[in-house]
Amino acid sequence: MPEGSPAARGTTPVPSIQRCLRCGHTLPELDARSVCPQCGGLLELVHSPPELRGAALAESFRRSTSPSGVWRFGALVLPGSERDRVSFPEGNTPALESDRVRRWTGATWLRLKHEGLNPTGSFKDRGMAVGVTQALRIGARGVVCASTGNTGASLASYAARAGLPALVLVPAGRIAVGKLTQTMAYGARILAVRGDFDDCLRLVREASDELGLYLLNSVNPFRIEGQKTIVLELLEQLGWDPPDWLALPAGNLGNTAAFGAALREALAFGLIPRAPRLLAVQSSGAAPFAASFDDDFRTLKPVKACTIATAINIGNPASFERAVPAIRETRGIVRAVSDEEILDAKGEVDAAGIGCEPASAASVAGVRRLVHEGFISPGERVVAVLTGHVLKDPDIILSEAESRRGASRPSRPAEVEPTIAAVAAAARLS
Ligand SMILES: *Cc1c(COP(=O)(O)O)cnc(C)c1O
Ligand SMILES: [Zn+2]
Repeated sequence: MPEGSPAARGTTPVPSIQRCLRCGHTLPELDARSVCPQCGGLLELVHSPPELRGAALAESFRRSTSPSGVWRFGALVLPGSERDRVSFPEGNTPALESDRVRRWTGATWLRLKHEGLNPTGSFKDRGMAVGVTQALRIGARGVVCASTGNTGASLASYAARAGLPALVLVPAGRIAVGKLTQTMAYGARILAVRGDFDDCLRLVREASDELGLYLLNSVNPFRIEGQKTIVLELLEQLGWDPPDWLALPAGNLGNTAAFGAALREALAFGLIPRAPRLLAVQSSGAAPFAASFDDDFRTLKPVKACTIATAINIGNPASFERAVPAIRETRGIVRAVSDEEILDAKGEVDAAGIGCEPASAASVAGVRRLVHEGFISPGERVVAVLTGHVLKDPDIILSEAESRRGASRPSRPAEVEPTIAAVAAAARLS
């Protein structure tokens, strides 16, 4: 159907706008700038509301012909973009049960929403499907991001799929080997910056205009759009009966912001009667958001980040302003857990046969902590999001195998002679 024909006009939503969260300044939907040109504030995308509400809207998701767990929710995610949509497809990740992890956390009703099962092994694919689609829509010559690993891997993959060149800035020596090699394999140009992630982000934010490249960090509001679908898909899986708690690891806070936006919309459009409480979990080595929460969000004091959970090794979270309302509106909690607790949680998730990268396990460690502190009562329904795949960080598994700590320590292969006797002697399973 040609655009502009009367029938098309009847069904095409009013174009969205980008609006500054700080000063309210608006930009057209196809403007390439990723922050407010007036005040430097973060942008959000404002859509025309969907025509359907409640059960009818839920039914329209269910009947969608899109195989993508992102684009299926197109009525709430970039409506009007049907033509250039980039997709693998992504999403459609399971909400897993595990007796072992349930017992370890003390939460008797627990699901693990495994976002590590996305095409490139992290939830970043949901945001990139929309972000790279937007890059095509605005006619970008190329795309750029700063990354602790997963954003770069996802951008490299989606850019290659869309036929766009990609530039990725990573902190030299601080990114997990699975993520780095993946980004190399997908053909991105990688710059290893002698600095930390916060330096990389500052550089790309300053340089993307000059380089003529479209910035696809989660400051970009189109990334947030895609990541909302983690929550929408989860709620759908639970029959739109929301859990009591929704726990996620928190680094740059784009995902926390996206969860807040999804819940706000799900409430406004009658998909759910109440929102779960968000539990954003940081590592104590990189916990400026948790410290700010303890101070009633009066200030954000950037820190020098240092945690083994490289995906959340961020000292100056860019989406702070967007994440605060997500916690406030859901009566949420922000907590820091130690690297030790994160590794113990990862040990349990891995030994349950599910597996995740270290940062992902922060959500599970956070659930255990809140159950022990009495904030989560044992009978409440809890969902913890696992954000990345176990293969992302093989080095940590090797080093954990060497260490003595933990009941669920991974074990190194035992090398044996090629004889039945040697195999029989070494094959004791416990
Ligand atoms: C990006 C990422 C996070 C942190 O998400 P933010 O949006 O930066 O808060 C957590 N875990 C994994 C595996 C990630 O890739
Ligand atoms: Zn502004």
